[in-house]
Amino acid sequence: MPDIIRLLPEYLANQIAAGEVVQRPASVVKELLENAVDAQSASIQLIVKEAGKQLIQVVDNGLGMSETDARMCFERHATSKIKSTEDLFRIRTMGFRGEALASIAAVAQVELKTKTRTSDIGTKIVIEGSELISQEPVAVPDGTSVCVKNLFYNVPARRNFLKSNPVEMRHILDEFMHLALAHPEIAFSLYQNEIEIFQLPAGKLSQRIVNLFGNNYREQLATCEEVTSFIKVKGYIGKPEFAKKSRGEQFFFVNERYIRSSYLNHAVLTAYEGLLPKDSHPFYVLFIEIAPESIDINVHPTKTEIKFEDEKTVYAIVRAAVKQSLGVHNIAPSLDFEG
Ligand code: ADP
Ligand code: MG
Repeated sequence: MPDIIRLLPEYLANQIAAGEVVQRPASVVKELLENAVDAQSASIQLIVKEAGKQLIQVVDNGLGMSETDARMCFERHATSKIKSTEDLFRIRTMGFRGEALASIAAVAQVELKTKTRTSDIGTKIVIEGSELISQEPVAVPDGTSVCVKNLFYNVPARRNFLKSNPVEMRHILDEFMHLALAHPEIAFSLYQNEIEIFQLPAGKLSQRIVNLFGNNYREQLATCEEVTSFIKVKGYIGKPEFAKKSRGEQFFFVNERYIRSSYLNHAVLTAYEGLLPKDSHPFYVLFIEIAPESIDINVHPTKTEIKFEDEKTVYAIVRAAVKQSLGVHNIAPSLDFEG
């Protein structure tokens, strides 16, 4: 018998690994927006064409990259965000795996333009299917622009699996909203097929909510805040009569990272108990701040699920925060039957 095991060529290994990170255009949007946030940008622009199937571009005015880093950032496991195992348990940045750009470049045509504030000239890199096409100096503003064209052009099976434009665009909007809500201090804009969809100035969370969801939300919001030595919960909840039959306007952020948690959603719902019409879902945007050591965000590659060391306490505090807010804002009935 001849030996039959061989190492996969790098482009193929990258393509396989990319499947974990890049499922659809919205995954690219998420990764690029997160990188722009991590780069301390004050303003971030998202441009998409054909629901991201043709083009996804993110332009930021953040730290930018040096010439060497501009090349390095496409290597797998290349990151500036962690150095040691200890760092893994005190993560403050959105990224840390060093996989996104390598994965995206494996399954698309990517053009990166970047410049740091201290250098006079920037760098432009073109990379297609993990293969470096060109690298040259370029005159660009401070910051980074990543342009991702023809996602999955070299993986036809995946490209064929993409849903209709409205469906893919909905996913992109979700990612955009998560980042925009998490960072009202950053200006965001979104253009779709050259039409401006959002122009969000930097400001307060309440303003960001109104800009994203509409002016009628202004009167519907109640502030929500609870601070303990263990966690801080703050944000806005919608008045009970404002609850909707459909879901989709419930947002939890843990240390500024959007997370999905049916457990914590339950905590909120039980706080509204008796106040909501049947089968309706209250609006909320709640931020939880907790020591990074007491959570594990490493459980899922897309990082939308996290593990709390002390889940029950988090649940209780979230519930108390919402209850308190409903009470303070005189929304609850005067008699507390639970008493
Ligand atoms: P991660 O975000 O997990 O570090 P990425 O593949 O997303 O991995 O990015 C690799 C590295 O490239 C980052 O650690 C960062 O140093 C650099 N980088 C990526 N995007 C930007 C950006 N918009 N501005 C500045 N640096 C960036
Ligand atoms: Mg990243």
